[in-house]
Amino acid sequence: MASTAHQSAAEYTEHHDDAATLDRKVTQLAEWIRQSRFMLAFTGAGISTACGIPDFRSGMATCLPTGAGAWTLRAEEQKAGRRIEQPGVRKVGTLQAIPSHGHMALVELQRSGILRFLVTQNTDGLHRRSGFPTQALAELHGNTNLERCSVCRAEYLRDFRTRTARGVLEHDTGRACGKCGGMLRDTIINFSEWLPEEEIRKGFRAAELADLCLVLGSSLRVTPAANIPEIVGKKEKGKLVVVNLQSTPLDGLAALRINGTIDDVMQLLMSKLELQIPPFVLKRRVQISQWITSPMPTPTPRLQQQPQRVERSTRSTVAAASAPASAPSGPQFVMQVSGVEADGTPASLFREVRLGEQARSDTEPHRFTLRLPLTVEGAAPKLPASVSLVLIPFGNYREPPVTLTVPVQPASVQTWLLEYDPRSTGRWIRQELAATITGAEANHALEKLAGLPDPRCATQASGKLGGRNSSPQRTAAAPEERTVSERR
Ligand SMILES: [Zn+2]
Repeated sequence: MASTAHQSAAEYTEHHDDAATLDRKVTQLAEWIRQSRFMLAFTGAGISTACGIPDFRSGMATCLPTGAGAWTLRAEEQKAGRRIEQPGVRKVGTLQAIPSHGHMALVELQRSGILRFLVTQNTDGLHRRSGFPTQALAELHGNTNLERCSVCRAEYLRDFRTRTARGVLEHDTGRACGKCGGMLRDTIINFSEWLPEEEIRKGFRAAELADLCLVLGSSLRVTPAANIPEIVGKKEKGKLVVVNLQSTPLDGLAALRINGTIDDVMQLLMSKLELQIPPFVLKRRVQISQWITSPMPTPTPRLQQQPQRVERSTRSTVAAASAPASAPSGPQFVMQVSGVEADGTPASLFREVRLGEQARSDTEPHRFTLRLPLTVEGAAPKLPASVSLVLIPFGNYREPPVTLTVPVQPASVQTWLLEYDPRSTGRWIRQELAATITGAEANHALEKLAGLPDPRCATQASGKLGGRNSSPQRTAAAPEERTVSERR
């Protein structure tokens, strides 16, 4: 986003409640939370400074370890005509950032049934990564790890930054949709761009229902996002609670203003609610799909004459990872490894997958093909009882490769759960086969997989699709107030 920094010293001033005042205010907040029927949380960049990600508007003299806000620093550097060093400042990239106590407290509040909905202006994706369910979340300004199909609207979460476009208002990523082949676009929303219809609809719907809105670390200056807490604050029986170091334009509407850092306030709040803040664990879901391609309906004379050749290629165990699943040489066993989020969103989790000693795949879909010997009609093909898969993650948290011994079970979809603790052990702490579906349900899923276009083909044919004016958010029906702007 491009915007202006604060204009006055008063706007930069950070306010801190003393310990007794903080305790009294948080006790009041806990009581309101217990009484509320629909609690909404609204987060801004301030919740992620504890993770090492700088905000936008903190001043040069901020108490935060992330230093001046991005816009403040840029304005100061422009004024000085040189780069400004900030000694002692600690910054972490969004992919390496570990969700804070504040993020994890929200996960627990939602899990406990207390928090009903969360609206965030942050694009760092940390709420999703923390495990907050997407059904109760609106990422109003997008997510750096999420891209969306411009045709069928399918979403893909990646363990890398999706944005590749250079122009501020350009969003093509150069990748193609695995479902329909359409061009994928990053989901980042810049000033003057339309907000995603679905996210804004969910956010405003939550504002209508909420009787309590807890704002965490937002300057409340960017609209229409800031209209969401404002709606709750203006209700006769609505309560707006603002936790922020700097003052905000909605402070006058707030039933309670808490001057403290998000992590301090949320840790105190959770202890008053007698709830534990869960530690962050990176959760990964991996789907391993296995199927056998149908043999040719009637073996051609050519195939019948060459059984030896097929037999030999079987002994070499696996064909190249990129071999098409439908090579014209009789039945083949196919194994595909895919990442998936809890809500079913496809996720790119591994930069490489290896099967056995020889086969490797560094391009999605990670698909391996094993040519089967031609057998007497009706006889079951010989397959190993299990195979060894090595999954090599992108390693944003330095997570090491995972080795899985996968039972071979054609016509099935297995879901494996992997959990990694980036902080205390630095190890994978859970690797287990959680579910296997077979039968009609599996066949339905596998039919879709087997028919997928290879995304690489569409990617290579990419370039700009429809030019800069075809952004999916820019629909004629979208109301004016849904573009992002700033209020002072
Ligand atoms: Zn699509």
